[in-house]
Formats: sequence, structure tokens, C-alpha cells
Amino acid sequence: YYGSNTTVFLDGQWLKASEASASLYSQSMHYGSGVFEGIRAYDVDGTPSVFKAEAHYERLLSSAAVMHMPFDYSVDQLTALTYELLERNQLTDAYIRPLIYLGENMGLGPVDQSHLFLCAWEWGRYLGDKSLNVMVSSYERPNPRSVPVAAKVTGHYTNSILATTEAKRKGFDEALLLDENGSVAEGSGANFFFEHDKVLYTPPLGNILPGITRETVMDIARELGYEVVEAYFPPEKVKGTDGAFFTGTAVEVAGIRLLDGNPFRLPWEETIGYQVAKVYQNLVRKPSKTQLVNT
Ligand code: PMP
Repeated sequence: YYGSNTTVFLDGQWLKASEASASLYSQSMHYGSGVFEGIRAYDVDGTPSVFKAEAHYERLLSSAAVMHMPFDYSVDQLTALTYELLERNQLTDAYIRPLIYLGENMGLGPVDQSHLFLCAWEWGRYLGDKSLNVMVSSYERPNPRSVPVAAKVTGHYTNSILATTEAKRKGFDEALLLDENGSVAEGSGANFFFEHDKVLYTPPLGNILPGITRETVMDIARELGYEVVEAYFPPEKVKGTDGAFFTGTAVEVAGIRLLDGNPFRLPWEETIGYQVAKVYQNLVRKPSKTQLVNT
């Protein structure tokens, strides 16, 4: 993630990654009370273009507010810092990780000091390019009455780590997690869609992270003329349908081959997901030149 020349931003300063440090008494370190984002920049004619920076930083600010964290950077300031970070590291295609973590407190009450850390590195598609072998996880997504699941909170990712570890140990590529009612929710770090008879289905907001890629993909699919339905469905309804895929900033649009060993009916290349994935690549890499749908 970093080398000897990597520059990061920490609390108003540009530092070498190897020289940036944080307190071991940070409340977020012990109890998972940080908030973060995952953002991508794409090389557009040799310069970086940050995809949907505003939406990501609005979600970061809202995550911080939900967690009662003091934080006074604006979306514009954060966006400008992101471009400066890329410039200083001479990155064009990059993954950007903003993290807000709280100051020292070994108690569980509010903390009046927060820290902002920004770093970036080159990162290929998180789940790779091949169609995925997915298991329905034995772990449920956190209950929205227990924690604010729409906020991107570091502590929520213990759930994602457990589900991913279980899946990998059992020989799968990724996990699909259900909500507290047994309906499909999302992947460990991505939203979920399946398709049947030319209609796309995805779980509604409520038990999932409101993914920015999810929104983009719904827009693309509708522009392509497909119906997109937000609904709750059990995993049994998904198995053996025409196709399925995950969406996320890190995974982009990632096709699924098998769910609990059950194949989807169509080859990935014949699915709506495949078409959407192609348009998504056009959109992020040529944002000003292409229409949303480039037919
Ligand atoms: N769900 C979870 C749990 C995630 O971690 C992510 C990645 N941020 C997503 C969905 C997809 O969100 P986005 O498209 O905004 O990256």
C-alpha cells in the first residue's frame, strides 16, 4: 500500500507514509468507532478523475455525523485534498482511503477530537476479473436497530471480515450475507443484484450500505431500458436465476458464477450485468466524453 516515497495526509499535514503515526489510545483503535470511505480515481487522458467524489464525501460526512464525531472539513475541501494527494503521489488510476478516527479515550463516551487520514494506492479490481463462486454466509449483516448500517463505520467490518474469512476458508471467493429476516442483504464489501427474465432485482435500502455503485448501476440499467426492482427476497429465489453480480467501488461490477454451488443460467457475457459492467467502465474512464449509455 505504500513505499518509501508515498505521501499521506494526516491532520493538516503532508507526511511520508512511514512517518505518519497515531495514538494507541485512540478510541477508534479499541472499539471500532472510526468512519471511512473507499473511492476510486481513473486515468482520463493521463490525469486522475475521481469518480463521484461528492457522493463519497457526503457519505463520509454523514457517517461521521451519525457517529457523533466532531469533523469540520467540507466536501469541497476533501475533494481538493484528494486531488492533491493523487498529484503528490503521481497516481492516476488509484484507490483512495479517507479515514476519520477519534482521539484518545479508553471510555465509551463521546470524544471531542477527531483525526483525518487520507492515503491512496494503485489497486486492481478487488475481487479480480473472473466470475465468482459465492456462498450464503452463516453470518448475518448487523441489525439496523443495533448499529447504523447505512454509515461506513470501521467496527461494522468485523462482520465483513468474519464472513470473508469463512468464505475463503471454505474455498469460495466471496460471501453473500442475509439480513435479520433471512432476506438477501449484500456482500462483505459490495451490494448485490440478480436478474431474471430481463428484470434486475436488488434489496432495498434499510439493511445495506447505500452503495454509490449500486445507484450508478441502477441508473445505467434503466438507461439501457431494463426494469430494476428493489425488493426483499430469500436466497432460494436467487439460485438458478439468469445471473447475478456484486457492485462496489473496489469490486466495480463483478459477475457471480455460482451461489452455494448452484450455477446461474446464462453465461456472464449474455447477462444484463455484463452490459452494465461495460457501460460502467466507459462512464468512469471517460466521464465527460461518453453519454451514460454508449450504444
Ligand atoms: N456494501 C458494503 C458493506 C460495502 O463495504 C461497500 C463498499 N463501500 C458497498 C456495499 C458498496 O458501496 P459503494 O458502491 O459505495 O462502494
